[in-house]
Amino acid sequence: MLSKRILNLSPSPTLSLDAKVKQLQADGKKIINLTLGEPDFNTPEYIRIAAKEAIDSGFTHYAPPAGILELRELISKKLEKENGLIYNPQEIIVGVGSKQLLHSVFQVLCEDGDEVIVPTPTWSTYIEQIKLSGATPVLAPLLPPFKLTAKDIEQKITPRTKAIIINNPSNPTGAVVEKTELANIGELAVQKNIFIIADEIYEKIIFEGSHFSVGSFSPVARNQTITINGFSKAYAMTGWRIGYAAGPRDIIYAMVALAGQTTSGTSSISQKAAVAAFGNDSEIKLMTNEFRRRRAFLFVELSKIDKIQVLKPEGAFYIFPDIRKLFGGKYNSSAEWAIGLLEDVEVAVVPGEAFCAPGFIRISFATSIDNIKEGVRRITDFVLDS
Ligand code: PLP
Repeated sequence: MLSKRILNLSPSPTLSLDAKVKQLQADGKKIINLTLGEPDFNTPEYIRIAAKEAIDSGFTHYAPPAGILELRELISKKLEKENGLIYNPQEIIVGVGSKQLLHSVFQVLCEDGDEVIVPTPTWSTYIEQIKLSGATPVLAPLLPPFKLTAKDIEQKITPRTKAIIINNPSNPTGAVVEKTELANIGELAVQKNIFIIADEIYEKIIFEGSHFSVGSFSPVARNQTITINGFSKAYAMTGWRIGYAAGPRDIIYAMVALAGQTTSGTSSISQKAAVAAFGNDSEIKLMTNEFRRRRAFLFVELSKIDKIQVLKPEGAFYIFPDIRKLFGGKYNSSAEWAIGLLEDVEVAVVPGEAFCAPGFIRISFATSIDNIKEGVRRITDFVLDS
């Protein structure tokens, strides 16, 4: 009855796990949830006020499918000032979160039989969205510390390669791509005539060094790059469903046409909230400082656990330990280990299988320091007992 396309789709592993945790919590279990992919902070007040003003002033009608001009002008200024990317508002689209815009990019770029290179460990959404477009995801596995290089990509290029994904900083590893490698990847894309899809959603949550946009290194690289970003992670606005993409005009026009026949753009109220968000970055600094404090604590405490190997993430709010040395006894995979952890000590983490990286687990520090302390204590006990 259902289409092959949808039967072929795997549900989001993190969202499924989150649903399971919520069910256990509803049953009265005191689960420590370290799976979360969203800031635990509330949206800052000045943003909420702007949304209320939008509602009260009647700014509640359809917005243009490309997004309101006022917001696209601000995005254009932001990209120039912070990312060294020159895009006019006609080369920018606002959408229903960066997830929907990624889906739209694959839909407008890919034909059946095309290939899209996905460095792994990776966020599983890319793989499913590429499959939905008719293209084939081609995995490019990285080894710890998971720093992407142009060579990793070059090895996977074939005549059918249409695009590559760069998620910088990375979910789930927290790795940040080196500036020189970004320039090399840009050159490679130009030389091989392939697109770069740059997902920069964790841009503002960065602890070491600086963030650079891959499209900023040369005008030709810029012409083959679609940069995706949004408000969810930086401004704690996950539920508002608002993100944006900037890229070559014909690609953005195609995405606008697709939005016109599917979503009709995103909420007008969220767009006014996003306009306000751009006016003030002070709360981002507070949130990032809190993430930094939690990261330091988790890194030190996890490093003390025998047989768990841990790298310090440079960005995002996840730590991605290697637990392979724990296998051979009761557990032989991250998926089994994560179920044991949940059942025995009631701590939820995401197994690496969800990111094409068996042998690892993802621990989110987008939760309170008290939860993190208790979570690490229980993980330590679990490792000692199993
Ligand atoms: N890109 C990555 C790498 C993510 O981890 C996420 C959310 O988990 C998104 C995009 C989606 O963000 P949005 O809320 O803007 O759709």
